[in-house]
Amino acid sequence: KNISPGHQAVFFDKKLRMWEEQKKNIEKNMFRALSNEEFKIYVQPKYAVAGNDCRSGEALVRWVSGDLGFIIPEQFIPLFEKNGFIVEIDFFVLTSIFKTLQRQLRENRRVYPISVNQSRATVAYPGYLERLQTVMEQYPIPLEYVQLEITESAMEGGGPEFLRLLAALRNMGFSIALDDFGSGYSSLSSLRSLPVDTLKIDKEFLRESDTSERSRTIIKNIVNMSKDLGITVVCEGVETEDQLLFLAKIGCDYAQGYYCAKPMPLSEYEGEYLRIPG
Ligand code: C2E
Ligand code: CA
Ligand code: CA
Ligand code: CA
Repeated sequence: KNISPGHQAVFFDKKLRMWEEQKKNIEKNMFRALSNEEFKIYVQPKYAVAGNDCRSGEALVRWVSGDLGFIIPEQFIPLFEKNGFIVEIDFFVLTSIFKTLQRQLRENRRVYPISVNQSRATVAYPGYLERLQTVMEQYPIPLEYVQLEITESAMEGGGPEFLRLLAALRNMGFSIALDDFGSGYSSLSSLRSLPVDTLKIDKEFLRESDTSERSRTIIKNIVNMSKDLGITVVCEGVETEDQLLFLAKIGCDYAQGYYCAKPMPLSEYEGEYLRIPG
């Protein structure tokens, strides 16, 4: 089929208009969606590479919209980051996880830590620490069960204020993960200056590792460097057995990816991994 540039332009224009339309619908529906509980929490297990078993989870939000169907995070997260609604979503997820962990601890089951994603817009919002305190008071739990994932790009250009915030969070007892590590432009300088507990190697490195010796070398060296710095490493996007074996060989601590387990509804995660003894 021969599509002329003119046709392509029309096609592109139509797609663009559809996206503009979709964006308007999303923004019109988001507040109601939150109160109607259309946002669902999924959890993806993180596996200890050595024992090949689940040790913690990551909370990932899903939007199952009555009007718009299933909307993927790539479609609404960037939009919410622009319009500020991400603060509400991040606090919804965080609060739900606190509440869930509190229940799990009371149920006397095995409990694994859970990490939640915090956008730059969320941590940069002036009332952030106060709002966090409110959640902590509402659902008091040992903070060793909660990790905050902040993307590397969100930390880029973070001035002294941002550094102070990270230090404050760690002093409160949260552990901090640097998400999508290696995807930004200042990975090494973020490592040098930022107080973090965990590094999550961006999934692109592992994806390329099947074909690129360079990517394997980079992963291996990030793992070694992190060990020397006392930082825990998670490699994201583990999709094959070979990739997991590679991570075992180089001594990477944790693996996250479809090969280990896909993100699943919270109830399924609890049923599968956190059985109540007896
Ligand atoms: P992320 O934080 O890097 O999360 C990992 C993403 O990789 C998830 O996509 C997960 O489903 C996907 N993934 C896991 N294993 C594999 C694998 O083996 N292969 C591949 N190709 N992908 C894998 P998801 O759930 O679609 O989320 C996309 C992004 O949306 C997240 O990337 C995160 O940046 C953002 N996000 C999700 N939930 C939240 C949230 O509650 N708050 C904020 N601020 N951002 C969120
Ligand atoms: Ca993440
Ligand atoms: Ca990531
Ligand atoms: Ca990401």
